[in-house]
Amino acid sequence: MLESDSDRNSFVNFYLYCFRIFIQPRMNISVANVEQFKTIRTGEDYIQSLRGRDLKIYLFGELVKEPVDHPMIRPSINAVAETYDLAVREEELASAHSSITGLQVNRFLHIAESAHDLVLQNKMQRKLGQNTGTCFQRCVGMDALNSLHSTTFEIDEKHKTNYHKRFLEFVKMVQKENLVIGGAMTDPKGDRSKGPAEQDDPDLFTRVVAKDDKGIYVSGAKAHQTGCINSHWIILMPTVRLTENDKDWAVVGAIPADAKGVTYIYGRQSCDTRSMEEGNIDDGNAKYGGQEALMILDRVFIPWDKIFMHGEYEFASMLIERFTCYHRRSYVCKTGLGDVLIGAAATIADYNGIPNVSHIKDKLVEMTHLNETIFAAGIASSYLGHKMKSGVYLNEDMLAQVCKHNVTRFPYEISRLAQDIAGGLVVTLPSEKDFRHPVAGPMLKKYLKGRKGVDVENRMRVLRLIENMTLGRNAVGYLTESMHGAGSPQAQRIQMQRQMQIGYKKNLAKNLAGVTNDIEKPNEPSDYFNRVFKTKDSVL
Ligand SMILES: Cc1cc2nc3c(=O)[nH]c(=O)nc-3n(C[C@H](O)[C@H](O)[C@H](O)COP(=O)(O)OP(=O)(O)OC[C@H]3O[C@@H](n4cnc5c(N)ncnc54)[C@H](O)[C@@H]3O)c2cc1C
Ligand code: SF4
Repeated sequence: MLESDSDRNSFVNFYLYCFRIFIQPRMNISVANVEQFKTIRTGEDYIQSLRGRDLKIYLFGELVKEPVDHPMIRPSINAVAETYDLAVREEELASAHSSITGLQVNRFLHIAESAHDLVLQNKMQRKLGQNTGTCFQRCVGMDALNSLHSTTFEIDEKHKTNYHKRFLEFVKMVQKENLVIGGAMTDPKGDRSKGPAEQDDPDLFTRVVAKDDKGIYVSGAKAHQTGCINSHWIILMPTVRLTENDKDWAVVGAIPADAKGVTYIYGRQSCDTRSMEEGNIDDGNAKYGGQEALMILDRVFIPWDKIFMHGEYEFASMLIERFTCYHRRSYVCKTGLGDVLIGAAATIADYNGIPNVSHIKDKLVEMTHLNETIFAAGIASSYLGHKMKSGVYLNEDMLAQVCKHNVTRFPYEISRLAQDIAGGLVVTLPSEKDFRHPVAGPMLKKYLKGRKGVDVENRMRVLRLIENMTLGRNAVGYLTESMHGAGSPQAQRIQMQRQMQIGYKKNLAKNLAGVTNDIEKPNEPSDYFNRVFKTKDSVL
């Protein structure tokens, strides 16, 4: 009898081991298919579920044998594991009742059934940002699932296809098995002034290269893939608006992360090799980190039942716009990181003996103001969520753009203020090895003292955390991902411009100014104000 979770894990792992050694090679099927025998509940279950897969990952010019045990990769796995543990510890926040399966499922796999569900996504994201201080990697998959719910429904409506039913079957499977889904939208894109069919090399955008009665084969690549190696399944989606010439590139499908033909080349992060050194002070945040990789697809097979778009090029922009609408508001995740950085800045001011100085307090207020401004736009976007034809809820687009646009700027200013408060040691601090050295160590303990009663090691740890978030490993998540993830700043400005209804606003002004003979037709294609002023829940 298996009495505890760890007994059950041992049994399941033994079973999987036997399966991999004796059965799988003869059947030529993916390990992701095997995982259905086991339901993942805790972070530890999740970590075990990643073991023994046959992923082809290059890092430092070598193939990685087991990513779970690689010291540079492990912090990113720990961050995803926390999304499982939070759902166990705080069930209401990080899980939801799914009417698709009738189960309580992890919120990252839930299809939003109300605006309240969208709000709770944001609350969960802020909490996870606070708990990990990094990118916890699961929102791209969550936002891909939610945007595909309505897009597949509307493709079927026009083309009489059956993508939505297939998609719901996929959702049922991932909800039941409690799996991690990666969202792969960004292609390498080559010459940015050209579309997919115009590139010299057609592989610069992922495309269909062959098909048969069982499914299709895709080739190309996906760049900057957050958490791809830590995912069980990855959803491939187009990244730009497509034309009729781009039909081969109009493809959406789900593949197991360990599908045959997929190669990953691991992305470097600033100071990443510190996690391969002894000790844990210099890491800044030794437990948690993010992950990105370049994902190369060489004739990767996708069976028909996992294909959710195939040739309907005119729906690529709908999918992208809905995905980015969800995802740009998901960037409230960064307010959780902002909370950590504000806390670190306040702590170092205290350790330095100046917690009550007026300009320090004012800087902490400014950091808080910026951080809450990001949160305000994101959570308001979710509160204004509305029901789509398929039944899923979509948050308000204009405020999602504003949220993400603030994210492209405010974390940089918050980081600048944190570095101001921290002092120069944030970049000149000697290593942990010197701190532990019998001769150098005592010198450091004497000269790196702050105010009386503060442990020098604690001071070092907080300075390293500030370095980690503003210059080091987690600056990838806090800064540059804030800039480019879910689209670079100009992409939000274009969306805001499309929806700003200048004609309508000019009429408001003319009306109050008494201009009666020059009223314009408000011609912007925007439902923003309809949604702002709507008083009843209806499909808009
Ligand atoms: C840390 C991180 C994690 C990410 N995670 C994911 C993920 O999980 N999944 C995913 O699909 N993507 C992911 N992305 C990708 C992200 O969406 C892209 O980085 C973003 O869309 C910008 O694309 P790019 O990096 O190719 O930059 P580019 O497109 O090269 O942009 C660089 C600059 O050129 C401008 N530009 C580009 N093309 C044009 C044009 N045609 N006309 C005018 N200006 C142009 C842009 O506005 C920008 O200022 C991630 C990115 C980062 C940095
Ligand atoms: S950047 Fe934020 S929204 Fe995107 S996956 Fe990471 S934690 Fe989630």
